[in-house]
Amino acid sequence: MTAPRIEINLDKVFHNASTLVGRLNSHGIAVTGVTKACMGNPSYAETLLAAGVGTLGDSRIENIEEMRRAGIAAPIALIRAPMLSQAGLVVANADISLNTELDVISALSDAAQKAGRRHAILLMVELGDLREGIMPDDLEETVRRTLTFSHIDLRGIGASLGCFNGVIPDGINMGELSRLADDLDQKFCASSNLVTRTVSGGNSSNLKWALSGNSIGRINELRLGESILMGVDPLYREPIEGLYTDAVTLFAEVIESKIKPSQPWGEMAHPTFEKTTKTRHHGTTNQMVLAVGHQDIDPAGLSALNGSEILGASSDHLIVATNGCRAQVGTELSFALNYSALLRAMTSRFVRKDFQARQSLGPKSSETVPRAE
Ligand SMILES: *Cc1c(COP(=O)(O)O)cnc(C)c1O
Repeated sequence: MTAPRIEINLDKVFHNASTLVGRLNSHGIAVTGVTKACMGNPSYAETLLAAGVGTLGDSRIENIEEMRRAGIAAPIALIRAPMLSQAGLVVANADISLNTELDVISALSDAAQKAGRRHAILLMVELGDLREGIMPDDLEETVRRTLTFSHIDLRGIGASLGCFNGVIPDGINMGELSRLADDLDQKFCASSNLVTRTVSGGNSSNLKWALSGNSIGRINELRLGESILMGVDPLYREPIEGLYTDAVTLFAEVIESKIKPSQPWGEMAHPTFEKTTKTRHHGTTNQMVLAVGHQDIDPAGLSALNGSEILGASSDHLIVATNGCRAQVGTELSFALNYSALLRAMTSRFVRKDFQARQSLGPKSSETVPRAE
């Protein structure tokens, strides 16, 4: 086996996805399964579809092209606003995209016309997190203009919270999104038969709000990535009850294993990368060097699964200390990753990605469900 290596257990992914789909469907909410952290890997996408996800979502057109090349025919949404320069690619590969700019929507309509097809869009609304979104006061005018484009189908509206400023989805901002959907239906149903079919409330950070028994209003879709893959609520960094948090594991190989002084010596200036731990005690440390570094992972987002302590990393080396036995040169250590470490590992060409095929095809039997929190 080559290292470094990420193993993604698709049985656990299937369990997480089907559990979340079941919980949300019972509230009338459909799930778009987001594939961006796995770079549109077709086995990952197929697992989400088997688990009951109706639409796939990815932020990069390259990942969507990859899924299409693999023969995936399910509806796919481009969930980052399209680049103006990619309108043709977007229309050719995605069924729907999330938009905020009329110039882009106009280009999508032209590209769709040229390709002899139609393209669906959601208009994203700014609700306070200050990433993408049309200001609520400008929404009506944007809809009016959108309805003039001949090859665009306006499917509905959406929002993103929790991403840039960590704004929490709650009754107030989600209530505003519902009200905006009601307003649009009222204003445009007579003139254009527009009905706001999809109201896409947000991402994994909406789960707590959606499942806590609040009135969910018009929200009928969420776009879920991290919660399915990591089993974690990103707002509070907490495990989600009943989901696996260990579907993803990083393996790296020990290339040096020695007893060394705990303190560095010589005159010191700034290291290339800031260290993740404070200064250590005097004496000696059982220290191992592993062949993985900043180029492949975010060391602050790793935790060693054998209880070792991660001291820090350089571009190509991870430095780990252990109180127990030193691992031999040539052996592998395993690590859990947070989302940031995972994203970097997935995009590093030095890290092998091993999507482990599902063993069981049906839903999991009750005795294999992980412990409740
Ligand atoms: C990444 C992304 C998602 C998924 O977010 P998670 O927190 O991973 O669930 C949803 N919507 C948009 C627009 C995104 O960029």
